[in-house]
Amino acid sequence: MSIVVEWQAKTTATHFPIIGMIHLLRIHLLMLALSTLSIVGHLHAASLGKWELVSVRGVDYVKLDDVWRFYGFTKRTGHPGFVSYGAGDRTVSLCPSKQDFYVNNYRYILSYPVISAEGALLISTIDMNKLVDPVLRPRLAKSGNITTVVLDPGHGGHDAGAVSRYAREKDCNLALGLKVRRKLEASGFKVVMTRDRDFFLTLGERVAIANRTPDCIFVSLHHNSGGRAASGIETFTLAPHGTTSPFARTRRTEDLAGNNQDSENIALATAVHSHSIKKTGAIDRGIQRARFSVLCTIKRPAILFEGGFVTNPQEGAKISSDRYQDMLAQCICDGIVRYTSNTKNRPASYRRSGSGSTRAGSLHSGYIPHTRGTSSR
Ligand SMILES: [Zn+2]
Repeated sequence: MSIVVEWQAKTTATHFPIIGMIHLLRIHLLMLALSTLSIVGHLHAASLGKWELVSVRGVDYVKLDDVWRFYGFTKRTGHPGFVSYGAGDRTVSLCPSKQDFYVNNYRYILSYPVISAEGALLISTIDMNKLVDPVLRPRLAKSGNITTVVLDPGHGGHDAGAVSRYAREKDCNLALGLKVRRKLEASGFKVVMTRDRDFFLTLGERVAIANRTPDCIFVSLHHNSGGRAASGIETFTLAPHGTTSPFARTRRTEDLAGNNQDSENIALATAVHSHSIKKTGAIDRGIQRARFSVLCTIKRPAILFEGGFVTNPQEGAKISSDRYQDMLAQCICDGIVRYTSNTKNRPASYRRSGSGSTRAGSLHSGYIPHTRGTSSR
């Protein structure tokens, strides 16, 4: 969609000593300020008001004040290191100059840090488009009729994955996967396992299974390794096109197949991750971005779930116990049920451009449980 813009003065780097040499272009967008964002198709231009698009070192940002005004959020608390906004039972929090972003105290890692310029906080349009909006307005994710879940217990055979004296990853992955399968089947899903016993298959073979399975989502199950103190659950989705992440150090400019499902990926991750954190009370290591092989070429909504650390004495013992595996399997199943129930049977009117409300009223419970009492930031 083309946009009519009014180019304003260029501001020099002297205004932004923290950032250094910044080439800042201010664009006053007369109407469709969010044209660069896919969400624009659902918005009434009149409801947007005037948004500013700010380009800093090749990355486009918008002002958080504009963002929260759009969603109907108001500032709740704030201090130099942490700011919270809210509407109804929904709270979002973030840390200036950091990549941490919280929705109802569940943690996400932004692709770019929140930055400050001219007294305003700015968030990248990529994070708006690929994280904030799909999470806050999940109804705008593509609809689908998911009937099948492809479960992928990581590693197997000669590849044991992470190993410690407390647990062996390939065994935990498989035990968890088999329990998730039983629960999903009891909930009416068809389940395809990439492996249902201890054998090796390549990453490509795992992806191929999902890509030839219609109407499915893909959930790869893993467990982590680290120092003895490291613990907690983290969930990975494919890094958006053109971004870097700690697990995807180079920018990829080509459009990966997995990026076609960016909105669905983050929604699925949100559902599974938040249910797991809420129920287990595990440390929330966040929903993170990566370009792991199984996420890059997949043509289905996909996540890679890390259920805990085999190298942590307490967590290693837990994740190899039948009882904890059962609880974690239930969380994953509940998250998948929540995700799929939100991506089908949506009012047809919602799919039409401009037909949905664009204000806080369009926020609904989505995939995120209500605010937790405490966050593990
Ligand atoms: Zn693994």
